[in-house]
Amino acid sequence: MRSKIVAGNWKMNKNLEETEALLTALSAKLPDTQAEVMVAPTYVNLNTSVRHLESSTIQVIAQNMHFAENGAYTGEISADMLLHIGIDTVIIGHSERRAYFGETDEILAKKVTAALAKNMRVMFCFGEELEDRKSGNHFAVVESQLKNALFSLDAGSWSKIILAYEPVWAIGTGETASPEQAQEMHAFIRKTIAGAFDAGIAENVTILYGGSVKPANAEEIFSKPDVDGGLIGGASLNADDFVAIIKAI
Ligand code: PGA
Repeated sequence: MRSKIVAGNWKMNKNLEETEALLTALSAKLPDTQAEVMVAPTYVNLNTSVRHLESSTIQVIAQNMHFAENGAYTGEISADMLLHIGIDTVIIGHSERRAYFGETDEILAKKVTAALAKNMRVMFCFGEELEDRKSGNHFAVVESQLKNALFSLDAGSWSKIILAYEPVWAIGTGETASPEQAQEMHAFIRKTIAGAFDAGIAENVTILYGGSVKPANAEEIFSKPDVDGGLIGGASLNADDFVAIIKAI
């Protein structure tokens, strides 16, 4: 059975004080839900966030990590560092990492392998750009992103993978994929994984949608059969909005 997940990607927002205030508000308002609820604060606030949520069901996850074990990589963070403070899930491949920090499919494949080697869960993000959709290449782009980063994994690794389909044109733009567009792509993703691995793996992998999910559109997007939740950016920075999205699942 695949799990439902609502995750908040806080990106480079919220200082320590603001992070604690948001966590306090979220914990107080968290509705009863079957879904896993996750938040991804910025690095310097991860440790405090884990401590803050010690008695909460909200999970703290990381926005990124490096593939090397340790060493001379100024500015980077390793899987072991995350695990040491109690974080076992990491976002890899966010479109902002790809676009602004030069993360190629090849680098992302190394990161996925490194995280899985440490038994971490990977929330792998991918999605086409506007040009790709306009030219009808969106399925091919998504297929190649999946293939390049994930298709050389062994079948057993898939229980540790969460997918997040995030069309780049919908991230932070206020423009959302329609529920039908999300469903169409999620079904395609499952079909592609079934072809490369098997139907059981495709059926059991959690596939999140991300890109301008808000309280007003969450319920309709989440109601689609192949959409198992969302990765939320802007709307996760406000406790009431994020709680409303959690309630929508
Ligand atoms: P957004 O971001 O909800 O602000 O569009 C989503 C994401 O980047 O994960």
